[in-house]
Amino acid sequence: MPLWVENAAMPPPSTQALPSRVDVLVIGAGYTGLSAARETAAAGRATLVLDAGGIGAGCSSRNGGQVAYSIKPSFSTLKSKFGADTAFGICREGLDAVAYLRSLAAQQLDCGWREDGCFFGAHTARHFRRMARDAENQPRGLEQRISVVPKAQQSGEIASDFYHGGCVYPDDASVDPARLLLSLLRLAQGSGASVVDCCAVNAIRSGRDGFEALTPRGIVHARQVLLATNGYSGPLSPWHRRRVIPIGSYQIATEPLGGDRVRALIPRGRNIVDSRRVVVYFRPSADGERIVFGGRAALAEKDPLACVRRLRQMMGRIFPQLKSVRVSHAWAGWVAYTFDTLPHLGQHDGMYYCMGYCGQGVPLAPYFGKRIGQQMLGLAEGRTALDGLPFPSRPYYHGNPWFLAPSVFAYRLIDAIGL
Ligand SMILES: Cc1cc2nc3c(=O)[nH]c(=O)nc-3n(C[C@H](O)[C@H](O)[C@H](O)COP(=O)(O)OP(=O)(O)OC[C@H]3O[C@@H](n4cnc5c(N)ncnc54)[C@H](O)[C@@H]3O)c2cc1C
Repeated sequence: MPLWVENAAMPPPSTQALPSRVDVLVIGAGYTGLSAARETAAAGRATLVLDAGGIGAGCSSRNGGQVAYSIKPSFSTLKSKFGADTAFGICREGLDAVAYLRSLAAQQLDCGWREDGCFFGAHTARHFRRMARDAENQPRGLEQRISVVPKAQQSGEIASDFYHGGCVYPDDASVDPARLLLSLLRLAQGSGASVVDCCAVNAIRSGRDGFEALTPRGIVHARQVLLATNGYSGPLSPWHRRRVIPIGSYQIATEPLGGDRVRALIPRGRNIVDSRRVVVYFRPSADGERIVFGGRAALAEKDPLACVRRLRQMMGRIFPQLKSVRVSHAWAGWVAYTFDTLPHLGQHDGMYYCMGYCGQGVPLAPYFGKRIGQQMLGLAEGRTALDGLPFPSRPYYHGNPWFLAPSVFAYRLIDAIGL
């Protein structure tokens, strides 16, 4: 079980009957679905959110809680693909997403928001030089505060010699993922949305005035449907399944180490990520008593418990001081990669969708969830720079990422060589 869920007052499974007709049906009760539902319900549309598992059973209760600028492709990559204006707009969405969550946290969310920043560790001296260069040459209008930390000063950030220096992003933040989820749930319900868990939508058919959703608790007729299923997009919509790549991300939490010991390891309490292709990410727990450590722990997907040994080894290489500590929690979830590493939102065959955050949906999912909700209402504020971009798939890909294990193997080799 995720550490965060153990400490949160998750609602008991619901038993309520479903309405037979709604204006808006949202499939998936994670950050995306709840944020969208809040918008449509607040505008007076009868809104129902269904989740196959518990509320937030997908990634939204089990992530690392790190909040950072989260558009993966660089401005120059996007510019060569889409032109300067669209590239700029897409990057701005990434900045706006963080700003949106920050303002929500300040006004309406009880999510344990902490603005302690992030240390981005360089895996090699070459990576450090590239990071320092990039920090100096940020595209105008897209600047973030960044300070370069040479290896000689690294001990102020992390009690480890593992990295070759790095960069600090002082405005990055962290949240308690489950508290964020519960806050978004309260906002959606407070706006009038009904949220029902343990009720999968097994099939969707086009009906006379919208859609019919087939569930174990009966058929729901909906004028509009939003697919907010991200890395859990199953056979319900084969078109979407061909466009998102579910990838397992694995996490462990150490036993309580005590605040002093955790501060000795990460003196400023920052999130830590690094420049490897197979990324690791870690941070102090929300109460500052433990280290929560995550990454891609296996070539092929595995039970999270089977990954504990590997994650401990990965953590022990960075913090040899932690080699003998006990691990109290281990869990995993499916993030949704896309073939162009961009999120996607819009409409296909009349059904709305919003997904594909490539493992960085803590800021992106609430923000784009709100935007897609606004689009469903026909509001101009809902427009984004991602609208209308092609949502690519690949031949022979139908939802089973057969290429993942060889790719992770190749990336590990690249990391080991230090390219
Ligand atoms: C281990 C881990 C660590 C992460 N760390 C970070 C981090 O530090 N920072 C960051 O930015 N991001 C992180 N992420 C990613 C982030 O959590 C996700 O991008 C985000 O939560 C996605 O939210 P969502 O609402 O779109 O999808 P989800 O929360 O995954 O919700 C999708 C929901 O759809 C439901 N569903 C699927 N099919 C059906 C159906 N047929 N009927 C009904 N319901 C259905 C599922 O049950 C699920 O609850 C991490 C993810 C994991 C797994």
